[in-house]
Order: sequence, then structure tokens, then C-alpha cells
Amino acid sequence: MTTGTITPEARRAGDDFLVFGALRASINRIDERLLQLLAERAKVATDIGLAKRMTNRPIHDAPREEDHANKLCSIGESLGLPSHVVRDLYRVLARQGFGAQLESQSEATPRATPANSESFRLARIEPGRSPTIVQVGEAQIGGGLFEVIGGPCAVESEQQIHLAADHARAAGVRILRGGAFKPRTSPYDFQGHGLKGLRWLADAAHSRGMAVVTEVLDPADAGAVAEHAELLQIGARNMQNAPLLRAAARTGRPILLKRGPSAGIREWLCAAEYILLEGNSQVILCERGLRTFESETRNTLDLSSVAALRELTHLPVIVDPSHAAGRDELIRPLCRAAHAVGADGVIVEMHPCRGEAMCDKRQALSPSQLRSITKDVHLVQTMRDARS
Ligand code: PEP
Ligand code: MN
Repeated sequence: MTTGTITPEARRAGDDFLVFGALRASINRIDERLLQLLAERAKVATDIGLAKRMTNRPIHDAPREEDHANKLCSIGESLGLPSHVVRDLYRVLARQGFGAQLESQSEATPRATPANSESFRLARIEPGRSPTIVQVGEAQIGGGLFEVIGGPCAVESEQQIHLAADHARAAGVRILRGGAFKPRTSPYDFQGHGLKGLRWLADAAHSRGMAVVTEVLDPADAGAVAEHAELLQIGARNMQNAPLLRAAARTGRPILLKRGPSAGIREWLCAAEYILLEGNSQVILCERGLRTFESETRNTLDLSSVAALRELTHLPVIVDPSHAAGRDELIRPLCRAAHAVGADGVIVEMHPCRGEAMCDKRQALSPSQLRSITKDVHLVQTMRDARS
């Protein structure tokens, strides 16, 4: 039978409960909130990991991390927390954050070679192989910065291309486009100025520190085009022209390979394979829209190909919204979409006096429209840099 006497131990436990119970409950609540914040932080770290993967950025950035740790220490000091405690805490947080980033990258990285990819075995993605970066003048396509390539559809005169180059340079363009050999639907339309146009183009770009991209139409011209241009374009109509692909590849210049208007993604990769097989690894793929039943736009821009290619190939991918949309007013939003889907850049047409363009007038951007696009890109990049 119990006597009702309270032992000294029980009394001490009761006192403990009264004195510490409320305080313990409140510190437990703080710990739970900290755990919730940690879980939130891990989610953000996962997003940062994905963004770094999309832009080929390394997970670690030691100077930025050191800078952030110092800032946290001084905030900690103002709150009465010794800096060694803050530093230890940050180390734990950073380790957990990097773990989350690595996990997100391994989730995003294809784990196996794509199925049925033997026919493009050099172009296909391989586990552990880093993405290809193509150097064109100052630009590194696939290196993390979204490149805006611009210039007129065709080189129309020496004066026109110099004026276009002035505007392109002012907008921050580093690779000037312009057709000297023009693939036209009607043989009666302006076919380009050929070699003469190529020389004007090269002079206009090089004298302003820009590189040149221009189309090569005939295998016999590949050498001459390569003498003047840093990047050789294979147009959509010629995507499967094997002798042209081989001749362009053998110049050793990087190749911009446009997608045929009715070519499947795998056929496109097989075309790239022709170039790679010549020992030229510098290939950039360019999505420029497909021929469909839609008549509001010139072609239908297949942005899903950009996402699909990320799972299939290590080659960089850019987008040509000009030939896809066929209308100047659609080009800026499509550039934003190309950026959002993870393309490595865009190539757009701009004419110094768009009303006078000799070809593709309807889709030519004005110089100020081009500047809005490069400004968009610059803004997004600055915001991203500030956040990472
Ligand atoms: C061009 O870029 O000049 C061109 C003709 O484009 P596409 O080959 O995509 O039609
Ligand atoms: Mn054009």
C-alpha cells in the first residue's frame, strides 16, 4: 500500500518539470523550426544544383562561399554569436547544401547511354562525358553563357553589312551572321554576292572584333568560306547532304548544323555524326522550326527538341527563332523561351533598315529590337550571377 509520502527524487523531478518544462518545450519548438528551415534550404540548394547543371557551372565557388561565411559571421556577431560558432554552423549547412546539389545533378544526368543510339555513337551522350563547348572567336557556345548571334539574312552590299555590324556590335553581339551564298526557294530570287560578299562580311566583323558565321552551300566553296568565317553554317535544306557535311567538317572549322524542316531529332544527330566522323568535334546544333500545318508562323518552333537533345547528345544546341517564326514581333518572346528551355544561345536576323531587306524582310529585327533581346539576356545573366 502506498503511504502518500513523496520521495526526495520525485520531488526533484517535479521541481525540474516546473522549472525547465516550459523552457524545454520552447527550445524543442525552436529546433523543430530550424529543421523545417534546413529542409527548405535543401530544396533551394537542389534548384541551384539543377541551374548549375543547365549552365555548366561548377558546384563549388570558393571565393563566393568564403565571402558569404564572412557576412554570416558579422551578422552573428551583431546577434551575440561568436564567429567560430557561426563558421562551424555554416560549414555544416554548406556540406548539406552541396550534398543536395550533387544529388540533383546525378538525378538530372542521364545514367545510361540512350537506347538505339548506335547510329550516332559519337554524338550521343555518355555517362561521365562532359558537354562539348565550341569556341567561336571570343564566344564559348555551351560554356554557360547564353550567346546571341545576330546579323542580316544576306550580305546585300558593303555598306549594309558594315552598318549591320555596327548595330550588332553595339548590342553586344560577338558573332555576326550574314549570308553570302543564299539558298533561295526560287532561282529568280537574289542568290547572294558569293565570295565578294564573304570578304565584305569578314571585314565588317573582324574589324569590330566579332567572329563570322555564314552558310556554305557547295562543297567546292568550303575552303574559301573557312578562310573568312570562324563558324560554317550548314543550312536546313542541306542537313542531310553528306558530301557537303564532309567537306565542311574537313576544313576543321566549327560547324553550325541546322535542323532540316522535316527531319527527326535522330536524323539530325546522324547528320552531326557525319561531321564528327571526319574528326571535327566542334558541332553546334540549331533548331529552326519544322514545316507543319500551322500558317500563322513560317515554321513551328520545336523547343521540345532542345530538352530532348539534352538527354541524347553532348553537343551544344542553339535556337533560330527568326526562320521559325518568320515575324519580327515573335522573336523576343521566343528568345526568352529558348533561354528558359536551356538552349545555349540564339541566332537572329537583324537588318539596319529592315524595310529595305532583300530577303526575309518580315522577320528582320530592327537594331533596337536586337538590343532589347541582348538586354534581356544580360539581365537574366546578372540576376543569375547575383543569386548563385
Ligand atoms: C539562314 O540562316 O540564312 C537560313 C537560310 O536558314 P535555314 O537554313 O534555317 O532556312
Ligand atoms: Mn533568312
